[in-house]
Amino acid sequence: MTEILKGNVVAASIKEDMTKRIAVLKEKGIVPTLGIIRLGNNAGDVSYEKSIIKACEKMDIQAKVYEKEISIDTSELVSLLEELNSDAEISGILLFRPLPKHIDEEVIRSSISPDKDVDCMHPLNLEKIFEGNMTGFAPCTPKAAMEILIHNNIQLEGSKVAVINRSMVVGKPLVMMLLEKNATVTICHSRTKDLAQITKDADIVVTALGKPKFFGEEFFSSESVVIDVGVGMTEDGKLSGDVDYDNVSEKVSMITPVPGGVGSVTTTILLNQVVQAAEK
Ligand code: NAP
Repeated sequence: MTEILKGNVVAASIKEDMTKRIAVLKEKGIVPTLGIIRLGNNAGDVSYEKSIIKACEKMDIQAKVYEKEISIDTSELVSLLEELNSDAEISGILLFRPLPKHIDEEVIRSSISPDKDVDCMHPLNLEKIFEGNMTGFAPCTPKAAMEILIHNNIQLEGSKVAVINRSMVVGKPLVMMLLEKNATVTICHSRTKDLAQITKDADIVVTALGKPKFFGEEFFSSESVVIDVGVGMTEDGKLSGDVDYDNVSEKVSMITPVPGGVGSVTTTILLNQVVQAAEK
Protein backbone atom coordinates (compact mmCIF):
# COMPACT_ATOMS: atom_id res chain seq x y z
CA MET A 1 0.00 0.00 0.00
CA THR A 2 1.21 3.49 -0.85
CA GLU A 3 2.53 5.58 2.02
CA ILE A 4 1.37 9.19 1.87
CA LEU A 5 4.17 11.47 3.04
CA LYS A 6 2.28 14.26 4.76
CA GLY A 7 4.06 17.55 5.32
CA ASN A 8 2.32 18.41 8.58
CA VAL A 9 3.90 15.44 10.37
CA VAL A 10 7.36 16.62 9.34
CA ALA A 11 6.54 20.24 10.19
CA ALA A 12 5.27 19.21 13.64
CA SER A 13 8.52 17.48 14.49
CA ILE A 14 10.57 20.54 13.41
CA LYS A 15 8.23 22.80 15.43
CA GLU A 16 8.66 20.66 18.54
CA ASP A 17 12.40 21.29 18.43
CA MET A 18 11.88 24.98 17.61
CA THR A 19 9.57 25.48 20.60
CA LYS A 20 12.35 24.40 22.98
CA ARG A 21 14.90 26.67 21.29
CA ILE A 22 12.52 29.65 21.29
CA ALA A 23 12.01 29.16 25.06
CA VAL A 24 15.79 29.23 25.60
CA LEU A 25 16.03 32.46 23.59
CA LYS A 26 13.14 33.97 25.56
CA GLU A 27 15.02 33.37 28.81
CA LYS A 28 17.80 35.50 27.35
CA GLY A 29 15.29 38.21 26.41
CA ILE A 30 15.50 37.43 22.68
CA VAL A 31 12.37 37.21 20.53
CA PRO A 32 13.13 35.75 17.07
CA THR A 33 11.89 38.37 14.61
CA LEU A 34 11.34 38.09 10.88
CA GLY A 35 11.43 41.26 8.78
CA ILE A 36 9.28 40.78 5.68
CA ILE A 37 9.80 43.15 2.76
CA ARG A 38 6.94 43.22 0.28
CA LEU A 39 6.97 45.37 -2.84
CA GLY A 40 3.48 46.21 -4.07
CA ASN A 41 0.35 44.17 -3.48
CA ASN A 42 0.76 41.05 -5.57
CA ALA A 43 -2.02 38.67 -4.43
CA GLY A 44 0.35 35.71 -4.14
CA ASP A 45 2.78 37.69 -1.96
CA VAL A 46 -0.03 39.04 0.25
CA SER A 47 -1.43 35.55 0.76
CA TYR A 48 2.03 34.05 1.48
CA GLU A 49 2.69 36.93 3.90
CA LYS A 50 -0.57 36.21 5.76
CA SER A 51 0.28 32.53 6.10
CA ILE A 52 3.78 33.36 7.36
CA ILE A 53 2.43 35.84 9.94
CA LYS A 54 -0.10 33.26 11.14
CA ALA A 55 2.64 30.64 11.43
CA CYS A 56 4.88 33.13 13.29
CA GLU A 57 2.10 33.93 15.78
CA LYS A 58 1.64 30.24 16.57
CA MET A 59 5.35 29.87 17.31
CA ASP A 60 5.92 33.10 19.32
CA ILE A 61 8.01 34.51 16.54
CA GLN A 62 7.53 38.18 15.75
CA ALA A 63 6.92 39.29 12.16
CA LYS A 64 7.37 42.88 10.98
CA VAL A 65 6.16 43.80 7.52
CA TYR A 66 7.86 46.51 5.47
CA GLU A 67 5.48 47.26 2.62
CA LYS A 68 7.00 49.40 -0.13
CA GLU A 69 5.79 50.76 -3.46
CA ILE A 70 6.51 48.50 -6.42
CA SER A 71 8.26 51.54 -7.96
CA ILE A 72 10.98 51.55 -5.25
CA ASP A 73 14.41 51.76 -6.90
CA THR A 74 17.47 49.59 -6.26
CA SER A 75 19.25 52.13 -4.03
CA GLU A 76 16.15 52.70 -1.87
CA LEU A 77 15.76 48.95 -1.44
CA VAL A 78 19.45 48.62 -0.57
CA SER A 79 18.97 51.35 2.10
CA LEU A 80 16.03 49.44 3.59
CA LEU A 81 18.06 46.22 3.67
CA GLU A 82 20.96 48.03 5.34
CA GLU A 83 18.55 49.43 7.92
CA LEU A 84 17.25 45.94 8.72
CA ASN A 85 20.78 44.46 8.61
CA SER A 86 21.82 46.79 11.44
CA ASP A 87 18.55 46.55 13.41
CA ALA A 88 19.38 44.29 16.37
CA GLU A 89 15.70 43.42 16.80
CA ILE A 90 15.47 41.81 13.34
CA SER A 91 16.84 38.25 13.30
CA GLY A 92 16.05 37.35 9.70
CA ILE A 93 14.95 39.08 6.50
CA LEU A 94 12.61 37.78 3.82
CA LEU A 95 12.23 39.73 0.60
CA PHE A 96 9.48 38.46 -1.68
CA ARG A 97 10.62 37.50 -5.17
CA PRO A 98 10.51 37.72 -8.12
CA LEU A 99 11.59 41.35 -7.85
CA PRO A 100 10.26 43.95 -10.31
CA LYS A 101 12.34 44.02 -13.51
CA HIS A 102 13.79 47.53 -12.86
CA ILE A 103 15.49 46.32 -9.66
CA ASP A 104 19.07 45.06 -9.94
CA GLU A 105 18.69 41.65 -8.28
CA GLU A 106 22.43 40.99 -8.12
CA VAL A 107 22.96 44.18 -6.08
CA ILE A 108 20.05 43.31 -3.80
CA ARG A 109 21.20 39.74 -3.20
CA SER A 110 24.59 40.97 -2.06
CA SER A 111 23.10 43.70 0.16
CA ILE A 112 21.33 41.43 2.59
CA SER A 113 23.46 40.40 5.56
CA PRO A 114 24.40 36.71 5.11
CA ASP A 115 23.65 36.26 8.84
CA LYS A 116 20.03 37.41 8.37
CA ASP A 117 19.51 35.79 4.97
CA VAL A 118 16.86 33.24 6.03
CA ASP A 119 15.62 32.75 2.44
CA CYS A 120 19.12 32.09 1.06
CA MET A 121 19.43 35.01 -1.34
CA HIS A 122 23.01 36.02 -0.61
CA PRO A 123 25.65 34.44 -2.90
CA LEU A 124 27.66 33.41 0.17
CA ASN A 125 24.86 31.21 1.51
CA LEU A 126 24.26 29.66 -1.90
CA GLU A 127 27.98 29.10 -2.31
CA LYS A 128 28.03 27.22 1.00
CA ILE A 129 25.33 24.85 -0.27
CA PHE A 130 27.35 24.24 -3.43
CA GLU A 131 30.46 23.53 -1.37
CA GLY A 132 28.61 20.96 0.73
CA ASN A 133 28.84 23.27 3.75
CA MET A 134 25.47 23.12 5.53
CA THR A 135 26.24 25.79 8.16
CA GLY A 136 24.53 28.66 6.30
CA PHE A 137 20.87 29.20 5.44
CA ALA A 138 19.38 26.88 2.83
CA PRO A 139 16.73 27.73 0.24
CA CYS A 140 13.52 26.74 2.04
CA THR A 141 11.82 24.64 -0.67
CA PRO A 142 14.63 22.17 -1.43
CA LYS A 143 15.37 21.99 2.30
CA ALA A 144 11.68 21.10 2.88
CA ALA A 145 11.93 18.29 0.30
CA MET A 146 15.07 17.01 2.06
CA GLU A 147 13.40 17.13 5.48
CA ILE A 148 10.51 15.01 4.17
CA LEU A 149 12.94 12.40 2.86
CA ILE A 150 15.04 12.39 6.04
CA HIS A 151 12.11 12.42 8.46
CA ASN A 152 10.61 9.40 6.71
CA ASN A 153 13.93 7.52 6.85
CA ILE A 154 14.08 7.18 3.08
CA GLN A 155 17.43 5.74 2.07
CA LEU A 156 19.46 8.41 0.27
CA GLU A 157 22.96 6.97 0.35
CA GLY A 158 23.52 5.07 -2.88
CA SER A 159 19.97 5.72 -4.09
CA LYS A 160 19.20 6.96 -7.58
CA VAL A 161 17.36 10.29 -7.45
CA ALA A 162 15.88 12.11 -10.46
CA VAL A 163 15.32 15.84 -9.89
CA ILE A 164 13.19 17.48 -12.55
CA ASN A 165 14.09 21.15 -12.23
CA ARG A 166 17.35 23.04 -12.68
CA SER A 167 16.43 26.42 -11.16
CA MET A 168 18.58 28.12 -8.54
CA VAL A 169 15.70 28.14 -6.04
CA VAL A 170 14.80 24.46 -6.27
CA GLY A 171 16.71 22.00 -8.47
CA LYS A 172 20.36 23.03 -8.25
CA PRO A 173 20.54 23.48 -4.45
CA LEU A 174 18.50 20.30 -3.98
CA VAL A 175 20.99 18.32 -6.08
CA MET A 176 23.80 19.58 -3.83
CA MET A 177 21.91 18.58 -0.68
CA LEU A 178 21.25 15.12 -2.12
CA LEU A 179 24.90 14.68 -3.11
CA GLU A 180 25.85 15.64 0.43
CA LYS A 181 23.81 12.59 1.52
CA ASN A 182 25.63 10.39 -1.03
CA ALA A 183 22.71 9.95 -3.41
CA THR A 184 23.36 9.49 -7.13
CA VAL A 185 21.50 12.33 -8.80
CA THR A 186 20.23 12.90 -12.33
CA ILE A 187 19.09 16.46 -12.98
CA CYS A 188 16.41 16.78 -15.68
CA HIS A 189 14.93 19.78 -17.47
CA SER A 190 12.88 20.76 -20.51
CA ARG A 191 15.48 19.43 -22.99
CA THR A 192 15.93 16.07 -21.28
CA LYS A 193 15.32 13.10 -23.56
CA ASP A 194 13.52 9.95 -22.41
CA LEU A 195 12.35 11.58 -19.18
CA ALA A 196 9.99 8.72 -18.32
CA GLN A 197 12.80 6.20 -18.63
CA ILE A 198 14.97 8.23 -16.21
CA THR A 199 12.21 8.73 -13.65
CA LYS A 200 11.08 5.11 -13.85
CA ASP A 201 14.63 3.94 -13.25
CA ALA A 202 15.12 6.22 -10.22
CA ASP A 203 14.42 5.20 -6.62
CA ILE A 204 13.28 8.73 -5.76
CA VAL A 205 11.73 11.31 -8.12
CA VAL A 206 11.49 14.99 -7.15
CA THR A 207 9.30 16.98 -9.53
CA ALA A 208 9.25 20.80 -9.67
CA LEU A 209 7.87 21.84 -13.04
CA GLY A 210 4.82 23.87 -12.16
CA LYS A 211 2.77 21.89 -14.73
CA PRO A 212 -0.28 20.40 -13.00
CA LYS A 213 -0.77 16.65 -13.51
CA PHE A 214 2.14 16.42 -15.97
CA PHE A 215 3.42 13.12 -14.54
CA GLY A 216 1.13 10.15 -15.12
CA GLU A 217 1.73 6.58 -13.97
CA GLU A 218 3.99 5.86 -16.98
CA PHE A 219 6.74 7.92 -15.26
CA PHE A 220 6.97 5.70 -12.17
CA SER A 221 7.39 2.16 -10.93
CA SER A 222 5.68 0.52 -7.98
CA GLU A 223 8.87 1.17 -5.97
CA SER A 224 9.05 4.92 -6.72
CA VAL A 225 9.21 7.48 -3.92
CA VAL A 226 7.66 10.65 -5.34
CA ILE A 227 8.24 14.12 -3.90
CA ASP A 228 6.04 16.65 -5.69
CA VAL A 229 7.29 20.23 -5.27
CA GLY A 230 5.21 21.69 -8.11
CA VAL A 231 2.20 23.85 -7.36
CA GLY A 232 -0.24 24.95 -10.02
CA MET A 233 -3.90 25.30 -10.91
CA THR A 234 -5.75 22.81 -13.08
CA GLU A 235 -8.13 24.02 -15.78
CA ASP A 236 -11.04 23.52 -13.40
CA GLY A 237 -9.36 25.80 -10.83
CA LYS A 238 -8.07 23.17 -8.40
CA LEU A 239 -4.67 23.30 -6.74
CA SER A 240 -2.49 20.50 -8.04
CA GLY A 241 1.06 19.27 -8.03
CA ASP A 242 3.03 18.15 -11.09
CA VAL A 243 1.90 14.58 -10.51
CA ASP A 244 -1.49 13.27 -11.55
CA TYR A 245 -2.09 12.31 -7.93
CA ASP A 246 -5.41 10.50 -8.32
CA ASN A 247 -4.00 8.16 -10.95
CA VAL A 248 -0.49 7.76 -9.56
CA SER A 249 -0.88 7.71 -5.79
CA GLU A 250 -1.87 4.06 -5.53
CA LYS A 251 0.75 2.85 -7.99
CA VAL A 252 3.93 4.06 -6.27
CA SER A 253 5.59 3.25 -2.97
CA MET A 254 5.43 6.70 -1.34
CA ILE A 255 4.15 10.10 -2.47
CA THR A 256 3.68 13.63 -1.13
CA PRO A 257 0.22 15.15 -1.67
CA VAL A 258 -0.45 18.68 -3.02
CA PRO A 259 -1.60 20.56 -1.04
CA GLY A 260 -0.34 19.14 2.24
CA GLY A 261 3.12 17.99 1.18
CA VAL A 262 6.28 20.00 0.52
CA GLY A 263 4.48 23.37 0.74
CA SER A 264 3.39 22.73 4.31
CA VAL A 265 7.00 22.18 5.39
CA THR A 266 8.48 25.17 3.52
CA THR A 267 7.16 27.87 5.88
CA THR A 268 8.32 25.85 8.90
CA ILE A 269 11.82 25.71 7.40
CA LEU A 270 11.72 29.49 6.98
CA LEU A 271 10.72 29.98 10.63
CA ASN A 272 13.33 27.47 11.76
CA GLN A 273 15.96 29.55 9.97
CA VAL A 274 14.66 32.71 11.72
CA VAL A 275 15.21 30.95 15.06
CA GLN A 276 18.64 29.81 13.85
CA ALA A 277 19.46 33.44 12.94
CA ALA A 278 18.30 34.64 16.38
CA GLU A 279 20.53 32.00 18.00
CA LYS A 280 23.52 33.29 16.04
P1 NAP B 1 11.05 27.28 -12.95
O1 NAP B 1 12.24 28.14 -12.75
O2 NAP B 1 10.05 27.61 -14.00
O3 NAP B 1 11.59 25.79 -13.19
C1 NAP B 1 10.85 24.80 -13.82
C2 NAP B 1 11.80 23.69 -14.21
O4 NAP B 1 11.05 22.67 -14.84
C3 NAP B 1 12.89 24.13 -15.19
O5 NAP B 1 14.14 23.58 -14.83
C4 NAP B 1 12.39 23.57 -16.51
O6 NAP B 1 13.42 23.24 -17.44
C5 NAP B 1 11.70 22.31 -16.05
N1 NAP B 1 10.72 21.87 -17.03
C6 NAP B 1 9.71 22.57 -17.59
N2 NAP B 1 9.02 21.82 -18.46
C7 NAP B 1 9.62 20.61 -18.47
C8 NAP B 1 9.37 19.40 -19.17
N3 NAP B 1 8.38 19.29 -20.05
N4 NAP B 1 10.17 18.34 -18.91
C9 NAP B 1 11.19 18.43 -18.03
N5 NAP B 1 11.47 19.55 -17.33
C10 NAP B 1 10.70 20.63 -17.56
O7 NAP B 1 10.23 27.17 -11.60
P2 NAP B 1 10.70 27.18 -10.05
O8 NAP B 1 10.65 28.56 -9.53
O9 NAP B 1 11.94 26.38 -9.90
O10 NAP B 1 9.46 26.40 -9.41
C11 NAP B 1 9.09 25.12 -9.86
C12 NAP B 1 7.81 24.66 -9.23
O11 NAP B 1 7.99 24.57 -7.83
C13 NAP B 1 6.59 25.59 -9.43
O12 NAP B 1 5.43 24.83 -9.53
C14 NAP B 1 6.54 26.35 -8.14
O13 NAP B 1 5.22 26.78 -7.86
C15 NAP B 1 6.97 25.27 -7.19
N6 NAP B 1 7.44 25.81 -5.92
C16 NAP B 1 6.93 25.24 -4.81
C17 NAP B 1 7.33 25.67 -3.58
C18 NAP B 1 6.80 24.96 -2.35
O14 NAP B 1 7.07 25.38 -1.23
N7 NAP B 1 6.07 23.86 -2.52
C19 NAP B 1 8.21 26.73 -3.47
C20 NAP B 1 8.78 27.28 -4.63
C21 NAP B 1 8.36 26.80 -5.85
P3 NAP B 1 14.33 24.38 -18.14
O15 NAP B 1 15.34 24.76 -17.10
O16 NAP B 1 14.92 23.71 -19.31
O17 NAP B 1 13.41 25.51 -18.48
